[in-house]
Amino acid sequence: MLIDGHLHLTQKDIDNNILDIMAINNIYGLVVGTNPVEWRWLQEIANKNEHILPTYGLHPWYSDKYHLDELVPYLHNIILMGEIGMDSIWCDIDLKEQKKVFTAQMDLAEEKKCPVILHTKGQEKEIAEIIQDYTMPILVHWYSCEEFLDLYIKRDCYFTIGPDVRINKAVQQVVKKVPLNRIFVESDGISALEWVKGRKLEARELPINLIDTMKYISIEKGVSFIKVKEQMIKNLANYMSNSI
Ligand SMILES: [Zn+2]
Repeated sequence: MLIDGHLHLTQKDIDNNILDIMAINNIYGLVVGTNPVEWRWLQEIANKNEHILPTYGLHPWYSDKYHLDELVPYLHNIILMGEIGMDSIWCDIDLKEQKKVFTAQMDLAEEKKCPVILHTKGQEKEIAEIIQDYTMPILVHWYSCEEFLDLYIKRDCYFTIGPDVRINKAVQQVVKKVPLNRIFVESDGISALEWVKGRKLEARELPINLIDTMKYISIEKGVSFIKVKEQMIKNLANYMSNSI
């Protein structure tokens, strides 16, 4: 069993048989629904595929485009909330507005004791302060800031290691500093892998990319690949222990 700790799926990925690739390779994926249109689509797919662990949350890029009321129908059997957070690098939505939507979702998650997945781009310091007020398990997706990492480690957060670990010093720092019992790997989906690699990718290349990041972790931590793989399975059980 492999775990992709954070990925986005598209209809094109489905048409390219990514679900078969995941089933054959026994990859469980935390698949992120970022807005109401995706939530509906993802719920249908997750209902038919045990390898899909769906996560629902209004992504900061959409924080001024939808109302959180639309999340309500998904809340009664939600297992993970995300990705939620704030972003001042890849989007220019007013940060006050983003913060309102983010903290409202953190409040909902806290009420349900639901684990969350965070998007922190450019807002690492601000978000590190906000999460001090909450108690649910937190998974920080593709942390790639050279500063403030210690604040998240102190909060006992989990992390997904981004697919650019071999070329990104900030991501390498996460592997170095975060204990193995708080680490996952992620692809962020096929288009993110294509962005990192600078070329087209087939769905069947998903497992090899996850394995490559796990190999990097195994060398950095000085433990066997099998140990990394087994630890990530334990990490998932611990992270989700409130919801499974
Ligand atoms: Zn994402």
